[in-house]
Amino acid sequence: MRKPMIAGNWKMNKTAEQARSLVGELLPGLEAVQGVDRVMCPPFTALMTVAEMLKGTEIGLGAQDMHWEASGAFTGEVSPAMVKEFCQYVILGHSERRTYFGETDQTVNKKVKAAFAIGLTPIVCVGETLEENEDGKTADVVTRQVHVDLMELTAEQCKSIVIAYEPIWAIGTGKAASGEGANKVIGDYIRGTLKKDFGAEVADAVRVLYGGSVTGANAAEFFGQPNIDGALVGGASLKPDFIQIVQAAKR
Ligand code: PEP
Repeated sequence: MRKPMIAGNWKMNKTAEQARSLVGELLPGLEAVQGVDRVMCPPFTALMTVAEMLKGTEIGLGAQDMHWEASGAFTGEVSPAMVKEFCQYVILGHSERRTYFGETDQTVNKKVKAAFAIGLTPIVCVGETLEENEDGKTADVVTRQVHVDLMELTAEQCKSIVIAYEPIWAIGTGKAASGEGANKVIGDYIRGTLKKDFGAEVADAVRVLYGGSVTGANAAEFFGQPNIDGALVGGASLKPDFIQIVQAAKR
């Protein structure tokens, strides 16, 4: 039985000061829900503040990206050890990183391996564009992303990874995928690729989240699907809606 997970991707929102007030607002409601892994992913500059507030709670902390190298001349980048100082999780390969910052499946794969090497759990994002969706390329795109992003992992590592299926056309648009549609992509292409690459036991163990315009109002539609284990939430993670989504994920 896979434990549900809800992770909030704050994107480039909230100063450390604003983060303090948002976490203060959400924390009691989040702590009240048991049986769901709850994770907040603020910007790098708010990690220390949020880490202090989450100390002694069961709420996890994640970064939104990191570099794969341990240290060196990479101006503006943040290393795995820097993330590990505060976090248990790291989002890798978000479509906004792929679209605006040149992230490729190869760089995502390097980051995934670096995350495991330092003891962070990667939340790896995959998903097709609107054009790819309309051209019937969803299977090809998602299969390639899962295959290349997770290359050279051991089966044991792969079991603990979290994958987020985030169709790009659904992110921040208010047009979520249907529960059934997301369930099919996750079951057929994501778990299907995991099964081919790592075996049935791994395919069954990996938690796969849906992401893309999830709100308190539509969350239950996704969590009722057998292949969907929770959500990666963008916009709604900055509001009390996030608590409602976490409540909806409870089995
Ligand atoms: C995201 O950025 O990961 C995301 C799913 O965004 P939103 O929930 O705002 O669509």
